[in-house]
This record gives sequence, C-alpha cells and structure tokens, in this order.
Amino acid sequence: MEFRNLKLQYEVCKEKIDENINKVLLSGNFIQGDFVKELEAKLASYVGVKHCISCANGTDALTLVMETWGIKEGDAVFVPTFTFFASAETVSYLKATPVFVDVSKDTFNIDLDSLELAINNVIKEGKLKPKAIIAVDLFGQVADYVNIQKIAEKYNLKVLEDGAQALGGMYESKKSCSFGDAATTSFFPAKPLGCYGDGGAIFTNDDKQAALLRSLCVHGKGKFKYDNVRIGVNSRLDEIQAAVLLGKFDQFVDYELDSVNRIAAMYTKVLQDVVKTPVINKGYYSSWAQYCILLESENERNELAERLEKEYNIPTIIYYPKSMHQQTAYENHVNYVAFLNAEEITKKVLALPIDPYKTDEEIEYIITAVKNILS
Ligand SMILES: *Cc1c(COP(=O)(O)O)cnc(C)c1O
Repeated sequence: MEFRNLKLQYEVCKEKIDENINKVLLSGNFIQGDFVKELEAKLASYVGVKHCISCANGTDALTLVMETWGIKEGDAVFVPTFTFFASAETVSYLKATPVFVDVSKDTFNIDLDSLELAINNVIKEGKLKPKAIIAVDLFGQVADYVNIQKIAEKYNLKVLEDGAQALGGMYESKKSCSFGDAATTSFFPAKPLGCYGDGGAIFTNDDKQAALLRSLCVHGKGKFKYDNVRIGVNSRLDEIQAAVLLGKFDQFVDYELDSVNRIAAMYTKVLQDVVKTPVINKGYYSSWAQYCILLESENERNELAERLEKEYNIPTIIYYPKSMHQQTAYENHVNYVAFLNAEEITKKVLALPIDPYKTDEEIEYIITAVKNILS
C-alpha cells in the first residue's frame, strides 16, 4: 500500500494533464505563460481573494510576504512550534526572530493562551519588536482566525496564514488562504493540491502588496523585465507545473476533498474508541493533508508503526518527530513559553495513509490492523 497514491491520481487525471503539458511543450512558452495566468485567476476566485501570485514554492511564498511587510532583524514573529520547518525558517532567513508558541492537542494548531503569553513575555523583556503571527493550518484544518485576529488587533500584529497544507479547507463558508492579512500555500506533490515538482502561491486582497510581490518574484522588476527597481528574487511557478495543476483542479474541487473527508470519517468512527483521533471543530472542514492519531505513549506509537509496516504492509509517517524548538538549527534559541502539548504530540503522533483514491476496503483493512495491534 502507498501512503499517498499519487500514481493512481495521475491515472485518473492523465488525459487532461498530458494534454496540458503537451500544449506547453508545443507553445515553447515555459515561464509565466497562459496556464500560469489561468491558474492564478482560478485559485483567486476559488479561495475568494482578489489576488493570487504564484511563485516557486511555499517557502518562498512565506518569505516574500514577510519581506513586503518589512519584517527584519529585531522583529518577533510568533510561530507554532509544531509545524513544518519552513514556517519558522523563513522568519530566521529574514534575520527576524521566530518566537515559538505551543499548540492544541485537539487541532494541532496554534494555542491561543500560549500565543498571548508569548506576546506578553516578549513585550515584558523589551528586546524584540512584535510584528506578526504565522498561523499554520496544520494537516488541513484552518486555525482559529476569529480569535487569532482579536489577539493580532490587540497587539497590532500582522497575520500570515500558512495554508500550505490546507487548500480546500474551510471555516464556515470561508476558504483556507483567505484569512489573515495575506496567506500562502504550497503545491509540493504531497499537499492537498500538488504539482509534479515545486510550486507555491500567495493570496492577498491588498493591491499594493500584490504589485510589490509580482515585482519581488521577478528580480524586483519595474515597468518591464530589464527594468529593475528593487532587489528581488527569482521565484516563479513553471508553466508546466501550472498546466499540471489545472489538469487536476476540477477533480480536486469536484470530489477529492469529499473523498478524503469520507475516509477521515470512516477512520474516526471506529478509531475514536481506540486512540485519540483528530478533532475537527464545529464549523470547520478539513482538506486532510494528514490524518494524525495520538497514541498513549512513544513506545506504543513506535510499536504500532513498526507492526503496521511489518505485519500488514501499511506505511505510516511521523508528522512531526521534532517541534521547532527541538530542532538542532534552533538549539540555542531563546524561548518565551513552555511547549507541553507539542512535546507530547511529537512523541505520540502517527499519520495513517490517506488520499482521495483509497478504497473503503483499504481503509477498513487499516482500521482492522490498528485495532488488532492495539487490542
Ligand atoms: C510544505 C509546507 C511549507 C513549504 O512549502 P514548500 O512548497 O515545500 O516550500 C510551508 N509550511 C508548511 C506548514 C508546509 O507544510
């Protein structure tokens, strides 16, 4: 069994994807052509935001947004400690300081009490200037933006939604990547909407910021390509990747999201009596980038993973074995709060296979295997 079966998805979308890629090959137009424009328009309208600016990957997307806000050395950016490294790394890359915050054991998203405590502790210390919050929509569920926004307003902070794992997720009728002052996503192959290489996008309603981002992505261009008015980077989504994404987009919207939700519901219905299953709060709709359960202990988690693989040929992945504050890259980092939940999660978390093309029989097989091993 595959953890996430991208080959099966390709077989289903093959005709459209191949046709689109062929069109690019025949056009000879490989950078910022019509597919990129079409994709940006489609995504902006789908997410419900005025501008979608595609770029080379989700990491660049985060960096570029913070650059437009002038985030720099001496600034504090609040980041959940339990996330993919890029959420924190980009802050450090800009020479600003990521201030790590604990997360919730139910949703795995940023914990609001820990966030406010971290902000207050930074203010009390008086060394760093609080500037922004990066709220990550971990595993496909959007963070609690209603309350994050209240905290941001109270302390005059920008909010950046890291929606790399949550395209297609929703809170009420509002889609992931439409929250905060700007949002980003990733098209890395394993994300809910993935391309066949690297890719990313930024979403904003701010015309000025959008124009600045379009310049920064292409070497700080001005009126035309060889008019450079600022220092930028080269961060563009390839035309072929846009063609792939457009070849998959209808399936993603029409049934893939429903399909992963059906699978998650199957898992939860039975496994909630056996392990701690993920909590999707009322009003939220997840895009299920991952389905993560929590075991009783690190030993139980490791044994389950090992036996699923060996005895049942079921692959699992630990998302994530280390939080940011436990990474070697941050071993001398100053922390402002404790991370009790995150430290527990990293020991007990295990992601079960999920993708829109898993059959009921496969999911039932996994459920039975988990139950057998834990009983
Ligand atoms: C994948 C991911 C990123 C980075 O995206 P890339 O396209 O791989 O650069 C950023 N944040 C989170 C939460 C992610 O999962």
